[in-house]
Amino acid sequence: MNRTARILLIILGFVGVGLVAFKIFERPIALYLVQRVIDDKVGNDPSTALPDGLHAYVCGTGSPMADPGRAGACIAVIAGDTRMIFDVGSGSMRVLGRMGFPVGKTDRLFLTHLHSDHFDGLGELMVQSWVQGARGAPLPVSGPPGTIAVADGFNRAYAIDAAYRTAHHGAAVANPAGAGLAAEEIVIPPGADSVVVLRKGDLTVTAIRVSHDPVKDAYGYRIDYKGRSVAISGDTAYDPRFARAAKGVDVLFHEALDRELVGKMQAAAERNGSAPIAKVMADIPSYHASPVEAAKVAQLADARMLVFYHTIPPMPFRMVERLFLEGTSEAFSGEIRISRDGDRISLPAASKALEYENVL
Ligand SMILES: [Zn+2]
Ligand SMILES: [Zn+2]
Repeated sequence: MNRTARILLIILGFVGVGLVAFKIFERPIALYLVQRVIDDKVGNDPSTALPDGLHAYVCGTGSPMADPGRAGACIAVIAGDTRMIFDVGSGSMRVLGRMGFPVGKTDRLFLTHLHSDHFDGLGELMVQSWVQGARGAPLPVSGPPGTIAVADGFNRAYAIDAAYRTAHHGAAVANPAGAGLAAEEIVIPPGADSVVVLRKGDLTVTAIRVSHDPVKDAYGYRIDYKGRSVAISGDTAYDPRFARAAKGVDVLFHEALDRELVGKMQAAAERNGSAPIAKVMADIPSYHASPVEAAKVAQLADARMLVFYHTIPPMPFRMVERLFLEGTSEAFSGEIRISRDGDRISLPAASKALEYENVL
């Protein structure tokens, strides 16, 4: 046996011993690692370590189209000691939970409009917020006219489950008085483009009328807290009213649909024999903004940063993001980002700082 063969044999011996040792200790290693994750995540509220300010949790950046990396529309905001969620699309509650948002302490859900892809995670939110927070009163939800009917429907659909939860965990945790939703409807007076919907200490939340025909009542929101601000478009075509109401915000979240890429999806659906999908692809560009239109809104608003969310279509790889962004930097002079599920933007009070990180 030559020298090389001996060295190879020794290496193989070490690898073999290592594999056997790993097999023997696999269970204690797995238990140690999972214990660390459990200690870190379960019952812990990492948001208490955040500085006083405005913190936006991007909990859903996708559209109803199948996309493994993006949940349905959702942005949660912590402003001082108030915790709000703006829309709760499909899958977004699971993102929010992984981000460490204190779901049990949610003060209010705001809905931008009543397209189902903006509230189809509502059942998960109402149950998790109720039990995790041992709520003594239903979760408040505010939205456009129709919100009370939607909340009534969810309350009825989840009543049987709520009784089971109380039977399982007792009334001290699953208090029947705290189950479900308490809805109120926001009406923007005729002739006005916006209305203040919440004033609490240094916090102001304003609902803004946007354009999403045939949905007549569709709102964006602006959140102001101690000199810091974010605006959330919800679903809208190009609308200067939203830009005016979002004047000077630190961060402007805007939806956007790439018409060229959606046009390709329409053509593919026709080629593949799916007339319904082709029709939907033909319809949706009329009630969403293009990326360049969103950039124009950010410029009109003089926002500091434009963050795309609720983007259509899915962008399976980075090169597609470049197509999506074509022309936007000519339209908006500030920083532009395409957000991802798990992004968190922190705007500490009494500062100009803007911290952008993914916390998943
Ligand atoms: Zn919509
Ligand atoms: Zn939508």
